[in-house]
Amino acid sequence: MIEFNNVSKKYDGASTYALKDINIKIEKGEFVFVVGASGAGKSTFLKLMMREEVASSGEIIVEGVNLNTIKDKNIPEFRRTLGIVFQDFRLIPTMTVYDNVAFAMRVIGTKEKKIRRRVPYVLSLMGLNEKARSYPKELSGGEQQRVALARALVNNAEIIIADEPTGNVDPQMSYEIVDMLMRLNEAGTTVIMVTHEHSLVKCFDKRVITIEKGSVASDVARFTGESATAHINAASEISNEYVVPPDEDYSAYVSRDAAASASETEEAEDKAPEEVLEGGEN
Ligand code: ADP
Repeated sequence: MIEFNNVSKKYDGASTYALKDINIKIEKGEFVFVVGASGAGKSTFLKLMMREEVASSGEIIVEGVNLNTIKDKNIPEFRRTLGIVFQDFRLIPTMTVYDNVAFAMRVIGTKEKKIRRRVPYVLSLMGLNEKARSYPKELSGGEQQRVALARALVNNAEIIIADEPTGNVDPQMSYEIVDMLMRLNEAGTTVIMVTHEHSLVKCFDKRVITIEKGSVASDVARFTGESATAHINAASEISNEYVVPPDEDYSAYVSRDAAASASETEEAEDKAPEEVLEGGEN
């Protein structure tokens, strides 16, 4: 659960509050859109939730962690429970798709053997099987955002925080990105998505929090508009399958560098489909 209790935020040197008296509860497993005009306070809301900024007053609790009292040394561990997706993707241009995703595991010291099982699994969830060896500049905006989503997921984030994730992709791919987020949500991940695209919000029956001038102007449990189903069916070419097919050739996913350095024994283990199916998603 995410809880904001009477939270206000005033940036140093600012004359007005970026957020004022915010009271919000987001249950585990919810999908929430956050909308509002530019400057309304949406990014501040997300930054407080990620502990990138500290509240001026009030209390913020995320999955039992009190962000007012969290020690600095525990902040990196807290952030690992979050998967963060930005409008501008923030992929590393000199790394392949595989390595961009693997990098998120490498920085927290995960063993290469586990990385070689986990990354192909997560890429397959995002429909990126064919793109593992491509570089970001060789991908469309939508594909790049799916790589960013794979990276956000790869360490088993409990909460996905997406700040305008569809801002740089075409309308059809926007639906696909939100569709992806919805499917992750159905699998139990809490999703908080900031967007200014009202047409998108209308298509998906989810809770909508509207922020205006630093306050919650409305908080609607479910949008009772046009159903998303037709759009999802029309827009999504991505498989519903969340299980890696047993006959998948996993060696194709191993990055160029990792493939060169991996021992034959390890590679043989990594190709064993039953092992991937048993342990790949954890
Ligand atoms: P949104 O994401 O809805 O566009 P923001 O949360 O970025 O809104 O900004 C809310 C308000 O806080 C705006 O008035 C903005 O100018 C101000 N603000 C945001 N970041 C800072 C900062 N680092 N220092 C001072 N003021 C800031």
